[in-house]
Amino acid sequence: MTNEQWGLRVPAKKGEEVRQALLRDGALDLTFKVLHDGEFLVFPVQEAREGTSRYVFEDQPGRISLPRHELVGGIAIMQDNDPKGAEAILASRPSLHTVLFPQSEVSGKYRTRDYMVLAGNDTTLTEVNEYGHRYKIDLANAYFSSRLSTERQRIAEKTRNNENVLDMFTGVGPFAITLAPHAAFIVAVDLNPKAVLMLIENIRKNKATNILPLLADACRLRSTLPWKFDRIIMNLPLAGTDFLTDAFRLIRHGGMIHFYSLVSREGEHIDRIYELGATEVTERIVRSYSPGQWHAVYDIEV
Ligand code: SAM
Repeated sequence: MTNEQWGLRVPAKKGEEVRQALLRDGALDLTFKVLHDGEFLVFPVQEAREGTSRYVFEDQPGRISLPRHELVGGIAIMQDNDPKGAEAILASRPSLHTVLFPQSEVSGKYRTRDYMVLAGNDTTLTEVNEYGHRYKIDLANAYFSSRLSTERQRIAEKTRNNENVLDMFTGVGPFAITLAPHAAFIVAVDLNPKAVLMLIENIRKNKATNILPLLADACRLRSTLPWKFDRIIMNLPLAGTDFLTDAFRLIRHGGMIHFYSLVSREGEHIDRIYELGATEVTERIVRSYSPGQWHAVYDIEV
């Protein structure tokens, strides 16, 4: 049987990397076969996302359709409170130890959420392997999402080994640790003490010797740090605009700021960014967040 579904068309040589990222997001639709189209592969995905179009896919015989979920290491996070579906998800992969259902939105200044355990072990603690880096994460106590894993790779590729980098809202450190082998020195800052403790453990786990972990409010950095930076990562999508002025004070002339924000229209922050002193700004949609809202990244040359 065939069926129409959203598909993501990528060059075959990037296929495995994209397949892994879609699996991590729980976005790959496993009920359909991957399409082979010359030098390209088309992956069936559960819903529209950046770069998708409609394609006709063949059914994957014998595949049981699992309820929608996102994978973070050994934990699956479901969108519905469905204990039977949770058991099916748990049984579908030997690497899974727990299935959670969120009981709150991502909220508060630490950007965390509450969870209830639907199946498996009673824990919110897991370890994620992302492009060869390992992160210990307690989902109830610190923010983590695999959805920006490709973004982290994109910025790592831009980073040069003489650069000093500031990760203003580092969480458990995925940007800082991904960039560490590419940069000279990284200051990784977060306000959440539990996130910073996990960051320190992750620095050790990944044998990164050039990251300075800092428990601090980012608004204090410009009056306390004695350095200017070549690159600044700002991943606090709901409130990052409050810190743009600080970032412009901390960036060296000729440096680059990567500013992530939730936007409801194209170009939402462009005027403000130019007013602050940008020489060139590129805006890109990273993914859809909710109807009418997108997660965007602004690459800002200063
Ligand atoms: N960059 C990380 C990532 O990609 O997983 C974490 C991003 S999370 C959306 C934002 C982080 O900013 C949270 O860990 C939160 O504790 C931290 N945060 C919020 N307000 C802050 C502030 N004023 N100063 C420093 N960190 C802050």
